[in-house]
Amino acid sequence: MNLLLKPVIRLRGHHLICLHFFSGEGYDSEFVENLRKVLKRAEAGEEIEVSSGADDVCRKCPHLRGERCLYDKNAEDEIREMDWSALKLLGLENRRKVKWVEIREKIPGILQGWSKDYCRECDWRTVCEQVIMPLKHQSVL
Ligand code: SF4
Repeated sequence: MNLLLKPVIRLRGHHLICLHFFSGEGYDSEFVENLRKVLKRAEAGEEIEVSSGADDVCRKCPHLRGERCLYDKNAEDEIREMDWSALKLLGLENRRKVKWVEIREKIPGILQGWSKDYCRECDWRTVCEQVIMPLKHQSVL
């Protein structure tokens, strides 16, 4: 390991939004465990680099083949479009370096637009709603 290189977390656009609503569920135990580790590092303030494709979360996903998402037949294209929209909403671009706290501050302002375009049709909607609804009730989101 090169000790001079600072570790960096690589996250793609839609993960920069969706991971704020992680509540411990995922495709399998390896995926969830990795996700917890990535989030812990991000929340501890490690630098995040915006990734243009498969990222540190995708690496342990059972649907990743090579660099492509095979969740279903249109997944790769749909996810890339989600990434693009997420970055537009967050005012970021690929390869930018950011901190988790900077993104977190933007979530309340973009959540309505994001959920209208993506959450309604998402397979994880009921999981995320468990996190979003109490926050809405507290007027945080
Ligand atoms: S419902 Fe889907 S698109 Fe919406 S925040 Fe959750 S994982 Fe992301």
